[in-house]
Amino acid sequence: MNAQDIIQLEKQYVLQTYVRPDFVLERGEGVWLYDTEGRKYLDACSGIAVNALGYNHPAIVEAISQAADGLIHVSNLYHTAPQALLARDLCQASFADRVFFANSGAEANEGALKFARKWARVNGHSDKTHIVAFTGSFHGRTMGALAVTATEKYRRPFEPLIGDVSFAEFNNLESARQTITRRTCAVIVEPVQGEGGVTPATPEFLAGLRAICDEAGALLIFDEVQCGLGRTGTLWAHQGYGVTPDIMTLAKPLAGGLPMGAILLTQHVADAITPGDHASTFGAGPLVCTVARAVFNQINRPEFLADLRARGDYLAQKLHALAEQSPLITGVRGKGFMWGLVSTLPALEVVAEARKHGLIILIAGEKVVRLLPPLVMSRDEIDILIDRLTRTLDALSG
Ligand SMILES: *Cc1c(COP(=O)(O)O)cnc(C)c1O
Repeated sequence: MNAQDIIQLEKQYVLQTYVRPDFVLERGEGVWLYDTEGRKYLDACSGIAVNALGYNHPAIVEAISQAADGLIHVSNLYHTAPQALLARDLCQASFADRVFFANSGAEANEGALKFARKWARVNGHSDKTHIVAFTGSFHGRTMGALAVTATEKYRRPFEPLIGDVSFAEFNNLESARQTITRRTCAVIVEPVQGEGGVTPATPEFLAGLRAICDEAGALLIFDEVQCGLGRTGTLWAHQGYGVTPDIMTLAKPLAGGLPMGAILLTQHVADAITPGDHASTFGAGPLVCTVARAVFNQINRPEFLADLRARGDYLAQKLHALAEQSPLITGVRGKGFMWGLVSTLPALEVVAEARKHGLIILIAGEKVVRLLPPLVMSRDEIDILIDRLTRTLDALSG
């Protein structure tokens, strides 16, 4: 079957919720992707922040083949070692005391919102059901996660969503102060907004939110589904801010491309949750947990994180220089290996042109070009990325 046949089949049989370019990806190695026609692309998308270790990483390949020999799934009715070990690893490397495992980012956020509602109820506040989210937020596509996602075009066709949610302005403490009340059980925020345009929270904003939540008796939830696990140069994005949440949600890079989400919580919140409150059939099976541990062991090493920060600084410097000389780029935002380039052209046009130059990037809203390179991208590969981006912008402005 050639590429056109495959594309035709998809167009006929797959529900058309995605708009895809006309090539078919077949294999990958490191930071490189190859299509069925043998074309080679530098990947600065990582399957939307999922493939943190790039493609065909030996640690992941080995973990999968080892785990495939054992149990793949037994359900959460039974104990298994990989789940226990992964939960320990995540807690020992974070503020959290407990973990609940899910299968995606949206699912992790759904669970976090449920836990917050239960926590308020158990602590004697029957009317403390209000949830606060922010403009520019993205927390997922299921009904609860969508209710805290700001984008009108994602929400409108599916209303009514779950109720008692308000939006405050991101990076505006005065707006947050006016929106969060004694009735608020949770405030959910991305320390670095991804989908909404790659906008880092300011340090004052996150610190201020922590104080307002403490005063109102509300839980602070950090959605680190995209920005967590090394992406911003620290293991958790909030470590770069010195602000600690009560709950953190994770997903994208967690299991090296296998589906996994996680909700990390403090004991205070965990105390409100009892058997039967929440569950997942697939969550944290032995195979996915073995792979997640392999990924975690690669990223959670001081040498790896220090080198990642240095390479992130290198990338930042190159991107700022690029923006300086290109009239099409009017702003550069981000941290570590998570960047947004504010473009005068529709971001989709830049992404399409980049493909012609052998570069895979993505968008974050209409006018922001998003870069999420695998965390293993070397300096030499960053040079290639910058070169291809430069040629892309030159072609568009020429
Ligand atoms: C992608 C994303 C989600 C949703 O994750 P899914 O696995 O697609 O459900 C939630 N929050 C953030 C910040 C994300 O980037």
